[in-house]
Amino acid sequence: MADVHANLAALDSVIESAHPFDQIWALGDLVGYGPQPNEVVARLRSHKLRSIVGNHDLGSIGKVDLSSFHADARVACEWTAGELNDDARRFLEELKGSALFGDVSVAHGSPRNPTWEYVTGLQVAVPNFGHFSTQACLIGHTHVPCVYRWLGGMLGEDACSSSEPLPNSAIELGDDRLIINPGSVGQPRDGDSRAAYACYEPKTRVMSFHRVEYDVDATQVAIRRARLPDRLAVRLQYGT
Ligand code: ZN
Repeated sequence: MADVHANLAALDSVIESAHPFDQIWALGDLVGYGPQPNEVVARLRSHKLRSIVGNHDLGSIGKVDLSSFHADARVACEWTAGELNDDARRFLEELKGSALFGDVSVAHGSPRNPTWEYVTGLQVAVPNFGHFSTQACLIGHTHVPCVYRWLGGMLGEDACSSSEPLPNSAIELGDDRLIINPGSVGQPRDGDSRAAYACYEPKTRVMSFHRVEYDVDATQVAIRRARLPDRLAVRLQYGT
């Protein structure tokens, strides 16, 4: 899962829907934007968890300059910084920007630039295939589910295809090289307000994609109670 963004109701729906599972792989941005950073970190850590760090996590523990963030994101990072308890902060401080989980590479933004780069299309995806050595790499950061498949042999953008995985569809990792974004748990941006996640079965090497409804109202109430920017509450309703 990627981009939980301190949205506890969304995380709990995903955990319930994905059950049973062996472990959670979190692809960064556990916090930021949302109203429950401590609760989300604690809930994730109550499961067997492997996690990397995202730009909003780094922004919330004072490890990156917030001047490059847009206004709502900056306000939310500053709020999160004041809210994080010692346990959660220490946990986030120890996370790396990219890693190897089993036979899969993981990076928050992209394998080339794990913290900042957005893989928004073929032009960005193609050069990134040269920056990881496993067959597949999982990413987040754009909050949009996508599968990039290396076709090889061709030049430029034709070397790769992209598709948006439908909910409840699955792919076999097979022999192709892939960059896969499961979408965002806590702040989807593809016009579907449901929380997005993927499940990976290493034995069969099948990855399935899922969407699940959650209590958007509960998170909106918590955002407003925390006096975070109202736009952060409104957008959850539309998945934008
Ligand atoms: Zn994010």
